[in-house]
Amino acid sequence: NFISAVVPPGEIGVKFDDIGALEDVKKTLDELVTLPMRRPELFSHGNLLRPCKGVLLFGPPGTGKTLLAKALATEAGANFISITGSTLTSKWFGDAEKLTKALFSFASRLAPVIIFVDEVDSLLGARGGAFEHEATRRMRNEFMAAWDGLRSKESQRILILGATNRPFDLDDAVIRRLPRRIYVDLPDAQNRMKILKILLAKENLESDFKFDELANCTEGYSGSDLKNLCIAAAYRPVHELLEEEKKGGTSSKSTHLRPLKLDDFIEAKAKVSPSVSYDA
Ligand code: ATP
Repeated sequence: NFISAVVPPGEIGVKFDDIGALEDVKKTLDELVTLPMRRPELFSHGNLLRPCKGVLLFGPPGTGKTLLAKALATEAGANFISITGSTLTSKWFGDAEKLTKALFSFASRLAPVIIFVDEVDSLLGARGGAFEHEATRRMRNEFMAAWDGLRSKESQRILILGATNRPFDLDDAVIRRLPRRIYVDLPDAQNRMKILKILLAKENLESDFKFDELANCTEGYSGSDLKNLCIAAAYRPVHELLEEEKKGGTSSKSTHLRPLKLDDFIEAKAKVSPSVSYDA
């Protein structure tokens, strides 16, 4: 149970279409991962086309790295194993060898499989000098040895997908094993609009809701911040309704909420601000 999730491809519930923006990232992942996993026979000739063993997603927090990893497993028809770097090193002192062996032998039985390592920097970060915990060092070495030990036939259908907000903390040896590194950036206004359209697809919005205005006034918001903003905005009609019921002193409960308007989001900005700050 050091693994936080194991999900078969049909049960993940997220696909690329559920992710707003990040078009280039999705295209690259399709070519690097989906195609070799779905059509391994096309990658078994010559030397040029080889399936990729490791991919790194890096970029600011909340930009959709975990979401991309899950959707990629759906697209590739792969099982999805998720582990979190910090849990692995803090909870499992001493069992490094057993754990990594169990993980990799489990994974080879589940292939095709994507092993998603969130916070990969805490599991496989740069060698921490004298203060590094012995258990962390052992875990990292065991992990890399098991990874290298995948036979080439198995490795075609096992992908390690790391994610981090701190790429500069990664060990050189790890960087080499994650030969494809993909930057997942904060969305610009046009991309924020795409994300908002997905997040608000099923909501009751006022007619002619100005998506462009909302996108333009949310500079610096990540996908995750936009989601939190939408949740905060969606509470406003609920609070109003409860307030009216209280004033009216009625015991009958209405379920009719007014549509969301742009103002709800503008007001909600006071509660939800961008989580990435560029201030020094
Ligand atoms: P962290 O680095 O903090 O782990 P992350 O990059 O893995 O963050 P996610 O956990 O994937 O980010 O994003 C959090 C939530 O934000 C998602 O579950 C989703 O609801 C929303 N979200 C983020 N980016 C997008 C996007 N591009 N389209 C739609 N929803 C998004």
